Amino acid sequence: MAQSGYDAIIVGGGHNGLVAAFYLARAGRRVLLLERRAILGGACVTEELFEGYKISTCAYVMWKLEQKIRDDMGLDRRGLKLNLVDPAIFFPYEDGRCCTMWLDMAKTQAEIARFNRKDAEAYADWVAMWGRVAEVLTPYILTDPPSLNEVMERAKSLGAEADIERLLTSSLVDLTGAFFEDERVKAMVVYVQDIADPYAPGSAWTEAYFQIGASGAHGFYVVTGGMGAITQKMAEACRDEGVEIRTDAEVARVIVKGGRAAGVRLQSGEEFAGAIVLSNADPKRTYRTLFDPEDLPGGFRKKVEGLKTGTGYLKFHAVMSNPPDVSGHLGRAQEPRDGAYILIAPSLDHYARAGAEMRRGEPCSEPICHLQVPTDYDRTLTARDGHICSIWALYAPPKLSAGTWEAQRQEVGERLIDYVTRFIPNFKSDIREWMLMTPFDIETRVGITDGAIRHLDVVPSQFLNQRPGYKGPVEGFYLCGSGTHPAGEVTGAPGHNAAHFILHERQAV
Ligand SMILES: Cc1cc2nc3c(=O)[nH]c(=O)nc-3n(C[C@H](O)[C@H](O)[C@H](O)COP(=O)(O)OP(=O)(O)OC[C@H]3O[C@@H](n4cnc5c(N)ncnc54)[C@H](O)[C@@H]3O)c2cc1C
Repeated sequence: MAQSGYDAIIVGGGHNGLVAAFYLARAGRRVLLLERRAILGGACVTEELFEGYKISTCAYVMWKLEQKIRDDMGLDRRGLKLNLVDPAIFFPYEDGRCCTMWLDMAKTQAEIARFNRKDAEAYADWVAMWGRVAEVLTPYILTDPPSLNEVMERAKSLGAEADIERLLTSSLVDLTGAFFEDERVKAMVVYVQDIADPYAPGSAWTEAYFQIGASGAHGFYVVTGGMGAITQKMAEACRDEGVEIRTDAEVARVIVKGGRAAGVRLQSGEEFAGAIVLSNADPKRTYRTLFDPEDLPGGFRKKVEGLKTGTGYLKFHAVMSNPPDVSGHLGRAQEPRDGAYILIAPSLDHYARAGAEMRRGEPCSEPICHLQVPTDYDRTLTARDGHICSIWALYAPPKLSAGTWEAQRQEVGERLIDYVTRFIPNFKSDIREWMLMTPFDIETRVGITDGAIRHLDVVPSQFLNQRPGYKGPVEGFYLCGSGTHPAGEVTGAPGHNAAHFILHERQAV
């Protein structure tokens, strides 16, 4: 091999690859990190998608990055600036009504009370219930995944056994129905993510991953300079620890010798030897493309193909002359941040219908839409006038049952604009330029199979220790991306945990 002597080679410079590289290097290991794209960060990047406007291409709010990782990597000291979004979420409805959720409990309750007084009181019980669940689960975010038995034991010791049992056996429709009466309120208080069906038994269980927030806390943050500021500062921390980083370096193969991972070969043909290899790519991409099938144990590929990556999303970006106008809903002049985060989610049945359309392989007719306007908080994103508005829309099938995403992208984007304009009257007329990313585009650009934003769907069969482990099927090979515990979002936890698992297992590496 042309190069030798690395203790660890990391395939992929997403944020988890960077976090794993940092911890291995800090423990004295010689680390090489190889990223296929010209920029580091994977799904956590800032790019100039429109001339003069810097956009968080995929992830657009920070809400789960672990404080320990921020501290260890010195991200705040390196200048990471976070802007807490408050009002947290604005919900508009087609009949002109609206509801604002604040970080402050009493203010949110006053808003909910305009719909239903009992629901306003129940909101405190709902938040308290998730607080108890967070106490049970949060300590497991930065450890090896626990078994259900371990979770139940801990829940018992904290008096939260009934909460965990209820989550394990309920659907989100049942769970919200036990607290609230108003259909709008039920849809306001949940995240409903990869499960894509609030009627599914067990949907309440994986909701826990989203409800417990970062280090148990809540709140969305707009990152000054976009989400890429996080990964740029992570890369800085890696370089300070001596990590060697190469971009435009796509790994074609993990080299296996005598049943052990021994290094990697790039698409260019260049080879690097390493004592161990970690993949930050998703499990399907990793095992489908990086290994010679003969190097994997019999039956392993079948298990990989059974992993679920069926829940897809759309990402839409626009430059607008004016921010989304919610003054008509508010019945007063708009403050600059009133509409910084808008969620169009009229009911749980809207989630259910969008999920059903996705499972049929159809573009969704009335998607759930998270609109975010980072320029309300961060004017460093552009020196020009106007606002950036990005939408994360639920759901979109990874593959259409008829036709291709490339052929339908324009029409689906136009329909999305028309749909949002039913709630935000100036939306269409104030758009100057826009682009839509489908699951196909996310896969092509970021390299995530099926555009599954958390590498594998967060569903009960892929949660906690049901997710693939850090240790791969070949000696000396590991996963360190969002396909492992605790899952996706910008948390840094999979990279942290994989590095610690390796350092514990291989004291001598
Ligand atoms: C559209 C979208 C919106 C999202 N919104 C949010 C949000 O607002 N907030 C939030 O917290 N999370 C959000 N997420 C989720 C979050 O961004 C991801 O779960 C997380 O960033 C994944 O990080 P990762 O490091 O595990 O993997 P990735 O970011 O997927 O990184 C993997 C890296 O590996 C590289 N790679 C793959 N194959 C190879 C190879 N053969 N050789 C070299 N390099 C390779 C890829 O190019 C990529 O850089 C969103 C994700 C998407 C896609």
